[in-house]
Amino acid sequence: MAASLIYFDNNATTPCDPRAVEAMLPYFFEKAGNAASRSHPFGWEAEEAVKQARERVAQLIGAEAREIIFTSGATESDNLAIKGVFELYRPKGQHVITVKTEHKAVLDTCRRIEKLGGEVSYLDVGEDGLISLDALESAIRPDTILVSVMWANNETGVIQPMEEIGAICDKHGVLLMSDATQAVGKITVNPRAAGVHLMAFSAHKMYGPKGIGALYVSRRQPRVKLSPLIDGGGHEQGMRSGTLNVPAIVGFGRAAELAAGEMEAEGQRLRRLRDELERALLSRVEEAHLNGNPEHRLPHVSNIAFRHAEAESVMMSFKQRIALSSGSACTSASIEPSHVLTAMGRSAEMAHSSLRFSLGRFNTEEETALVIEAVAGGVEKVRSMSPVWELFRDGMLDG
Ligand SMILES: *Cc1c(COP(=O)(O)O)cnc(C)c1O
Repeated sequence: MAASLIYFDNNATTPCDPRAVEAMLPYFFEKAGNAASRSHPFGWEAEEAVKQARERVAQLIGAEAREIIFTSGATESDNLAIKGVFELYRPKGQHVITVKTEHKAVLDTCRRIEKLGGEVSYLDVGEDGLISLDALESAIRPDTILVSVMWANNETGVIQPMEEIGAICDKHGVLLMSDATQAVGKITVNPRAAGVHLMAFSAHKMYGPKGIGALYVSRRQPRVKLSPLIDGGGHEQGMRSGTLNVPAIVGFGRAAELAAGEMEAEGQRLRRLRDELERALLSRVEEAHLNGNPEHRLPHVSNIAFRHAEAESVMMSFKQRIALSSGSACTSASIEPSHVLTAMGRSAEMAHSSLRFSLGRFNTEEETALVIEAVAGGVEKVRSMSPVWELFRDGMLDG
């Protein structure tokens, strides 16, 4: 590799767009007021900047500014939505429905709901990562208060049919929440049009700063109410107290504005690169299998299983100089196969042999070509040292 490092891990986080950083800078220095200070121009200026950022974020998702609650990120937004609904709607029922392939921020929050006495149903997905609409509808009960389905999956990019899901929830009068962290700023996302009442997303997955995110909370038809996680000065309509992170909010607003303007062209450019990467790897490398539905997918994500080529070893073959993500997750105690890939019916072995490629705004055609060479070569090298691959090649193993 001639160049230094290549970053193909944009689903983990994206670098900030310099234009977002530029917008933020004055709010650290000459415009460093507290947006809640009402008695001097520093406060007014900060308040005005937050107002404008809120409008830009709202506009990106076709919402009203008052429907945006700023949080520290999507993890907090997921917690606020699920725990906030559970606490307030508990007298009505204690049943929540979610999906096995959700992000840990949703799954672990649902575990907490179970500890608090709630009941959670975890829907299966098909081999392609999509949920069954019939299974969703059958899981809804009279005491169901919330359905939580992610818009697009962080590991596979698979996009769930949110409008159909919204119609089912509407028919049964159940609130619908969606973790749209990977979708917002990448594809058109409109919670109101899809019948989504609560929606979590984050700036650092769309070229804004880390540590700032939002929860969309529908304010009309229906007007959704929540119990806050954090009590205090009553900021953010009482749903999230604490002094607003003005520079980060401004960066988030600018990132949203940029995404609104550039998302479509950028999506097309990244789709071309991603498709080229996928075509090359699937045709050149034996026993390479795409993970996830090939059509209902984000344009910049590809997840491929390379049978009997352990992903961590493949990455070691190019000394980790290309940033990718493997189908293995390190938990406190061990290395576990991705819960997303195993829920899709992949074996632990295939999950550990899977690589996620997530392209972004700053990736180039040259980088894509280098990644293809490095990964194809890496898989070959790992297999050449693997007795298991040899047995498989000789037909002595079936999987
Ligand atoms: C990254 C991510 C999160 C967590 O977002 P933070 O802003 O880092 O807390 C939650 N859900 C999904 C789907 C993600 O991709």
